[in-house]
This record gives sequence, structure tokens and C-alpha cells, in this order.
Amino acid sequence: MSLSAMTSVESGRETESETVPGPILLLGAPGVGKGTQAKELVKLWGIPQISTGDLLRANVAQGTPLGKVAKEIMGRGELVPDSLVNEMVAIRLLEPDTARGYILDGFPRTLGQANWLDGRLAAQPEALPVVAVSIQVNYNQLLRRITGRRNCPVCQTIYNIYMNPPKQDGICDVEGAALVQRADDTEEVFKERMRAYEALTAPVVEHYRELGRFAEVDGDRPIGVIAAGIVAAVERLRK
Ligand code: AMP
Repeated sequence: MSLSAMTSVESGRETESETVPGPILLLGAPGVGKGTQAKELVKLWGIPQISTGDLLRANVAQGTPLGKVAKEIMGRGELVPDSLVNEMVAIRLLEPDTARGYILDGFPRTLGQANWLDGRLAAQPEALPVVAVSIQVNYNQLLRRITGRRNCPVCQTIYNIYMNPPKQDGICDVEGAALVQRADDTEEVFKERMRAYEALTAPVVEHYRELGRFAEVDGDRPIGVIAAGIVAAVERLRK
């Protein structure tokens, strides 16, 4: 992590780094820790995280027309059509908190979404282009992370029954509530999500790699070390 970024964390102010973060796409297979890293970067840079998975789950929970369409598709581990996701993101990007940048978590996932976003940003003279950082973790490690994941429905604390279990089986340490498993965190759905990830997201990686706006970081390390690697990669790509 750069000295300027460290200073910002310690002082609790916005980053003093000369690097304006702009739109940052975090890439990685399901379960690599995109959401966790996004939250680290949000704290560091004071910019919002935009997770299309979270936005879609909120739509499902609220029973919106989008949520009704998305629910079954998500339950099968498939991707929601680009047009629906793009429109949802377009509405989110109108919020003023996105002015200095934002962490994109789970979007764009397809070449169609990437082209849509790049085109939209290119049409705004003040907007920086997307830089993409991919978090790498091997397949078996990922399977344990996904199928072992449980979360508290009250405080949202995330556990893993293999790597970070609660003190008492199935019970949240903080709230005492029964832990739940996301409906799409089974091995069967994981395999389908990996297949969809590899088939559809590989072109997104190639797209940003060809544009010279792509970097990889090793995701099998402590959270803070991975975050520092992402910060360094973004600073390098923005130069
Ligand atoms: P996530 O929480 O990012 O793993 O997303 C959970 C599910 O939401 C995915 O398996 C997809 O069904 C759907 N989803 C999230 N983001 C997108 C996206 N950018 N494009 C299409 N579907 C998405």
C-alpha cells in the first residue's frame, strides 16, 4: 500500500493519494472475495461500492418487477440479461457519490456490459475510463469458500464452516441468530456459476487486457495484503 493511502486510512480522511480512483472493476471467480475487497477499498478511498449482485438481491427481496424476473435466473446460477443489469447500473451511476469513482463488484460481467459501460464513460468528457483488477484464487480453494459460506441474517457477519467457523455450530457469535446459507452457494450452482464466469467473463478480461487497463493480484493472502496489492495496481494503471 502506498504511503499516501496509508495516511488516509490512519487519519480517517479521504485519500491523499494523487490518484483519483475513478471506476475500478474488481474481477474474479465466484467466492474470490470481490465483495470483501470492495469494502476495503470503499474505506480507503471514500467511494461507493456498486455490487450488481447486491442490487439484484435487494430487488428480489423487495419484489420489484426486475426482482421477479431476476429471482429464477439467479437461482439457476445464470446471468441476468445485459439490458436489465445495464439499466439498473445506469440509474445507480446518477447518484452524486459516484463523482470521484466507484468500485464495481460483479459488473461488467459480459463483453456486452463492458462495451456499454465504456461507451457511456467515453461520452462523458470528465469521466475516467474503467481499470480492471482480477483477484486470483485456485478452484478447490474456491469451492470450500463457497460451499462453506454462512451468514448471519441479523448482522450480516460472514462465516465459513471450514476456515472461519462460529464458536457454536450454525449460530452467529455476535447475535446468537441461526446462520443461513445463500440459496446459490451449493456445489451444483457453484459449478454453473464457474462455467458462466469462465465462458462469459474471459472476454471481459481480454477486453481490458488489450486496452492496457488490466492487472492481476494473488487472492490467496490476508485481506489487507490483497487490498494493498489492488491499490498499487490501480495507481500503476492510472499513471
Ligand atoms: P454475485 O453476488 O455478484 O455473485 O451475483 C449473484 C447472481 O446475480 C449471479 O449469479 C447472477 O445471476 C446475478 N448477477 C450479478 N451481477 C450480474 C451481472 N453483472 N450480470 C448478470 N447477472 C448478474
